[in-house]
Amino acid sequence: MELDYDYIICGGGIAGLLLASKFSNDSYYNNKSILILDPDYPKVKNDRTLCFWDKKKSVWDYLLTSSWENVIFKNGLDEKSLNLNPLNYKMLSSISFYNYTNSIIKNNTNIKVLNDKVLNFKDCKSHCLVETNKKTYKSSKVFNSILDWNSIKNDQKFPLLIQHFEGWVIKTKNNFFDPEKATFMDFTIDQNSTTQFMYILPFSKTEALVEYTLFSKNLLDENKYKSSIENYLLKSGIDDFEIKSKESGQIPMTCFPFFEANTKNILNIGSAGGWSKPSTGYTFKNIDKNTSKIIDFLKSNDNFKTFMKKNRFWFYDLIFLDVLYYKNHLGKQLFTDMFNKNNPKTIFKFLDNKSSFIEELKIMLSFPKTIFLSAVLKRICKGL
Ligand SMILES: Cc1cc2nc3c(=O)[nH]c(=O)nc-3n(C[C@H](O)[C@H](O)[C@H](O)COP(=O)(O)OP(=O)(O)OC[C@H]3O[C@@H](n4cnc5c(N)ncnc54)[C@H](O)[C@@H]3O)c2cc1C
Repeated sequence: MELDYDYIICGGGIAGLLLASKFSNDSYYNNKSILILDPDYPKVKNDRTLCFWDKKKSVWDYLLTSSWENVIFKNGLDEKSLNLNPLNYKMLSSISFYNYTNSIIKNNTNIKVLNDKVLNFKDCKSHCLVETNKKTYKSSKVFNSILDWNSIKNDQKFPLLIQHFEGWVIKTKNNFFDPEKATFMDFTIDQNSTTQFMYILPFSKTEALVEYTLFSKNLLDENKYKSSIENYLLKSGIDDFEIKSKESGQIPMTCFPFFEANTKNILNIGSAGGWSKPSTGYTFKNIDKNTSKIIDFLKSNDNFKTFMKKNRFWFYDLIFLDVLYYKNHLGKQLFTDMFNKNNPKTIFKFLDNKSSFIEELKIMLSFPKTIFLSAVLKRICKGL
């Protein structure tokens, strides 16, 4: 059978571009022809700030805007300064990421990028078909990073919370920020029966990204994001500032089993593959880890159905999200309990799915026991 390409990557965003650049960097894939389909390529705007925690020295370091060893957690009663050593909290701007991955992709003549809009794709067993607004392409494998929000919104079994936010990079007239400390979560704002906090990443004494973030069922009116940031800045004593740039977005928080849609030849990747951590929305590190796993996987495997499996962390996320969904006003208390009663290194290990069972037990015991036990029982009765 004549194929148009070996691999087709639907969506050239963070996951698609990182996967393509990793194919380019591995000589095993030198002979593979790859097509990336994305109507929005090349991305020229800094449309998202990618933050993650990692070892002090890591591969992304030379592209970072900033990194912090200390982060602050605030809930109105106390302010906790958390030392993350041996980790750092790191900030990578998407434009640096796009420029870096594009420079690799452009040098690889086996990779082609087309501005087609993907309409559909299917696994025909011996090959895959990808239908776009311009043409239908045939390939042996498809990597899909186009997230279908409707499929997760309408699911009855796995409730969906949306992590939605608006962030402003501001420059203040006077020195205001401590560039040594990032504010990871500031819960001192009015909760309005939901889970919401401010997030501050300072790059200098006068410059920071200030982001208003909610974990809730519904989006807000556009003006509400703006007024919440303005009020917060005013209350913090910042009334003279310039907005340098803005970002906004939504990340799915759900235990919906995206990987069940993987077939032998189609792999869902990025947020569309369920790589956004359901309880936090952090995705970038999972994209980095899982795209490297694909590079190794394809050298000895042919069936994507076995690529992702449920593990115990999926179950922890499921219970945490159930509680947060049905008792959305409890977010501030849950995160306070977690940060007050546990060592930050253990928390970040837990959020990275790398903790031991004993560490996990300790973290779980820091949450309100009756509420969590009842959520576990409800899930068991529902058959998970
Ligand atoms: C503003 C913002 C900030 C974030 N900050 C963080 C963070 O700090 N840390 C973290 O870990 N995660 C963060 N995330 C979550 C996550 O890392 C990003 O959403 C990341 O972009 C996910 O990568 P992706 O490839 O799955 O999706 P995307 O990067 O969104 O890529 C999907 C691509 O598909 C393309 N596309 C859509 N429809 C079609 C179609 N029909 N045909 C072809 N192409 C199509 C789009 O143009 C896009 O390029 C953030 C998300 C947002 C939105």
